[in-house]
Amino acid sequence: MPDMDTIVSLCKRRGYIFPSSEIYGGYGGFWDYGPLGVELKNNVKRAWWKAVVQERDDVVGQDAAIVMNPEVWRASGHVTEFTDPLVDCKSCKRRFRADDVKGDVCPECGGELTDVRRFNLMFKTFVGPVEDQAAVAYLRPETAQGIFVNFLNVQTAMRKKLPFGIAQIGKAFRNELTPGNFTFRSREFEQMEVEYFVRPGTDEEWHQRWIQDRYDWYIRLGIRAESLRIRPHTKDELAHYARACADVEYNFPMGWAELEGIANRTDFDLRQHSQASGRDLTFYDEETGEHIIPYVIEPSGGVDRAMLTFLLDAYHEEEVRKEKRVVLRLHKDLAPIKVAVLPLLRNRPEIVTLAREITRTLKPHMMAVYDDTGAIGRLYRRQDEVGTPFCVTVDVQSLEDRAVTIRARDFMEQIRVSVAELKDVLLDELS
Ligand code: ATP
Repeated sequence: MPDMDTIVSLCKRRGYIFPSSEIYGGYGGFWDYGPLGVELKNNVKRAWWKAVVQERDDVVGQDAAIVMNPEVWRASGHVTEFTDPLVDCKSCKRRFRADDVKGDVCPECGGELTDVRRFNLMFKTFVGPVEDQAAVAYLRPETAQGIFVNFLNVQTAMRKKLPFGIAQIGKAFRNELTPGNFTFRSREFEQMEVEYFVRPGTDEEWHQRWIQDRYDWYIRLGIRAESLRIRPHTKDELAHYARACADVEYNFPMGWAELEGIANRTDFDLRQHSQASGRDLTFYDEETGEHIIPYVIEPSGGVDRAMLTFLLDAYHEEEVRKEKRVVLRLHKDLAPIKVAVLPLLRNRPEIVTLAREITRTLKPHMMAVYDDTGAIGRLYRRQDEVGTPFCVTVDVQSLEDRAVTIRARDFMEQIRVSVAELKDVLLDELS
């Protein structure tokens, strides 16, 4: 397992993740995704959407607005409950999460601390031209509420019967007191959430099924089982709305920490929104003639945390011919670049032309790049370091036999294939 600094540095060097607004000294808790980062992030989201929406017939997607009617956040309890305990140092004025402070003096300067206060994590803004209390709105701290308020719309439009789910991926914002551990705790991040509506009484069974499904998803995408675990919450850890919760945790460089939470939220949210909005958010069961307020199972994961996990888990250093090789063993579905086409001799125009032509024919089918900015050994190392599963090398012989060499990232084995077959061979390998 690499330490976090190794991954931070690789991400910067290779165009995965940059500090936000870096030329102005960065901005705590905000990150920018570079050319490879955005590809990996899109692939993570695509893999999730495929597993929870495309491949199931009981879950549909949606995409709600980030800024919602502030009534939503009053009804959900976020305005009063979405807080962290905070203490200030009276001497150095530093601010800490109360749970991070051991003892009763400032961990930085030993000064006296204030009493614990509650600090709301929602970012505020104003909607409309007047910046007064009535115009205050919030940037959503989770995507979940955008789903609950659309329960009726989606259920009616899609004629869904219980059990069914609504999935969403989108940005969330939290004014975290102590952002850190790279993107693990950011102030702007993305969530992948499902609200899965079930009949009361079947909730515990569905909860278990979703916990297992979500654990399996990470394993299928290559996370090592010894670094992943399911941790049920103890009663005193449960959020005010939850009946039960289990986290999928990863063994990060700073220790075991939450990657995704899977909560049984009971009928709390639909009940709250029914009461506050005055709208009937029940499900009408035609068979029994009953109106039911469904229970909700919520798998809630972070795109950025998942991405960080995939990067950490994929990172390997090994020795090849007395040289260090860094290789990201990313799952092929996640790798930002699927194939790099490399000319063996970059000063031979016919080789360069053929390599460029091959790249062009591959591009409509997969993320393919052409690179001639170094000697072949160097080009391989660079692709290994960003996790590209295949390199295709065009050499002198290619000009005669119209064949090229495919080199696989993990074991560096090589096969020769004809240019005519190349696309199909690669697509087959990547499928
Ligand atoms: P934590 O205890 O780490 O603050 P949480 O229990 O508040 O997390 P949830 O509200 O359950 O987190 O959010 C669901 C998921 O969203 C988390 O499992 C995580 O992957 C992601 N997430 C939450 N907060 C952040 C953050 N500040 N930065 C990045 N991802 C986050």
